[in-house]
Amino acid sequence: MPESSAAPTNVDALIIGAGFSGLYQLYCLRDRLGLSAQVLEAGDGVGGTWYWNRYPGARCDSESHSYSYYFSDELLEEWEWTERYPGQPEIMRYLNHVADRFDLKRDIRFGRRVTAARYDDAANRWHVETESGEHYTATWLITAVGCLSSANVPDIPGLESFAGAWYHTGQWPHEGVDFTGKRVGQVGTGSTGIQAAPVIAESAGHLTVFQRTANYSVPARNAPLSPEFKRYCHDRHDEIRAVIKDTPNGHPFRIAARKVFDFPAAERQEIYEKAWEKGGLQFRASFQDLLADKAANDTAADFLKGKIREVVKDPETAAALSDIDHPYAAKRPPIDTGYFEAFNRDNVSLVDVRRNPISHITPKGIVTADGTEHELDVIVFATGFDAMSGALLKLGIEGRDGLALKDAWRDGPKTYLGLQVAGFPNLFTITGPGSPSVLCNMPVPIEQHVEWITGCIAHMRDNRIERIEPEPESVEKWVAHVNDAANATLLPLAKHSWYLGANVPGKPRVFMPYAGGMKRYRDICDDVAAKGYEGFRLDGNDEKSAAVGDFAPAGSTDSPGI
Ligand code: NAP
Repeated sequence: MPESSAAPTNVDALIIGAGFSGLYQLYCLRDRLGLSAQVLEAGDGVGGTWYWNRYPGARCDSESHSYSYYFSDELLEEWEWTERYPGQPEIMRYLNHVADRFDLKRDIRFGRRVTAARYDDAANRWHVETESGEHYTATWLITAVGCLSSANVPDIPGLESFAGAWYHTGQWPHEGVDFTGKRVGQVGTGSTGIQAAPVIAESAGHLTVFQRTANYSVPARNAPLSPEFKRYCHDRHDEIRAVIKDTPNGHPFRIAARKVFDFPAAERQEIYEKAWEKGGLQFRASFQDLLADKAANDTAADFLKGKIREVVKDPETAAALSDIDHPYAAKRPPIDTGYFEAFNRDNVSLVDVRRNPISHITPKGIVTADGTEHELDVIVFATGFDAMSGALLKLGIEGRDGLALKDAWRDGPKTYLGLQVAGFPNLFTITGPGSPSVLCNMPVPIEQHVEWITGCIAHMRDNRIERIEPEPESVEKWVAHVNDAANATLLPLAKHSWYLGANVPGKPRVFMPYAGGMKRYRDICDDVAAKGYEGFRLDGNDEKSAAVGDFAPAGSTDSPGI
């Protein structure tokens, strides 16, 4: 790390990122523990993922009353969401409200992109440098950089020659993009592309969707919230909190305690129809074995493919859209507002780039392998993220003895509980690889991690413990457990999934999120803490943790994530 001339800013804790995680972590460390803490944030405002993802149609797939902090009753009482799913602008208003209400912005340094973070063993301090050359030091370094924040722009030959404009959805211009009358090409049909396409189609002259992997989608059925529902949320937030903390995915609904083949086909169909009408991610919760039993999953997959063929009028387009190669919900299942219907518009067409791959880009547009040049004015890359590990690796983190995180993770990310990495003392990774994170309604795992980290730091301070880091053996056991949990489900059957890192060329194929369920994970973390931080090495006094035991295998009734 280059030496900067100005004296460093020294604090107890540095937090990187001012999204859902960073805001709550700052509040906990500063206002609950009384530590000096600062947040370094690359953007010019709070919001994290939502600060950057301003693409047309950007909206959360979690229902608004659960996509909230639950740590403060006052906050729950005073905030009122307006729609079933919060749109990006409303989430930004919410997070700004939280930051202002708890007076957090005074300890957030905006426009600070972290470029290096080095651990000084002798002084037991982290030294952090920003792009602008500022230097900070801290005892604890906490990453709150989000799981889906490192944009994946595909390396397509000729992109630099394109004469029109191109954008990645995760780095969307704040002033918006005017598509009126333009020929737009959208690459990607994940949750983002499925949200963006119908909105872009409304103003574009023509929209060409380049689809590599066909995807399932269930209607979101977004709508304004009724006064009755708003009252229910206010009056019953204790009950809602209890549900989101108790369910495997942190959503405000329970997974139905029934199995697919306990019902005759006609009854199953009725259950799916009702779930389809209700809309949203709850479709996945129609039966408990949808992600454990391939034959059970096939019934849901067939139902959803049938819906695509029903909605989309052109048989060739319908066939390409419903030619889906993975079990339902083995990739993160999108929900939509008029996605398949958009293909019935005269100004929308589909190009199947699995059969006919993109070969290169010219000044005029995208050329596919069959030699067709699709002439375009604008290209929208809805091509996702270098998920979970990408944003962490960009921070330039070096642990003890100069060990670079990118070297420690050469074969894929390895953590203990998704919270810490061996060789990186006092570094905590909120919703890091190996934690349930993206398989859940995100505020729930975020609050759990922030509270666990806060408890751990309080324990260290109260017991004069200077360093905490996992024993290498605990990391090995946890990584094996994460793999076992994934292998107990159908999730690894989706070969092109970002859960596996398969969307980024050259990225090691490792199943990154913990699929054993949020409730089980919370219990494991609580148990580890209760046993004196079992599996961690605690230095600075005489305390040394016991070696971690084996983790019980995930049971077949544990429903993994969506
Ligand atoms: P994604 O799920 O990774 O989808 C990216 C899409 O781009 C896929 O269709 C992918 O095809 C395609 N793609 C990538 N590289 C390509 C290439 N070189 N050529 C052609 N196609 C290519 O990314 P995302 O849609 O941004 O979603 C990521 C995650 O963010 C979601 O799964 C979800 O967890 C979260 N998200 C949430 C919301 C919400 O709550 N509303 C909204 C958006 C996103 P392959 O499938 O073949 O790789």
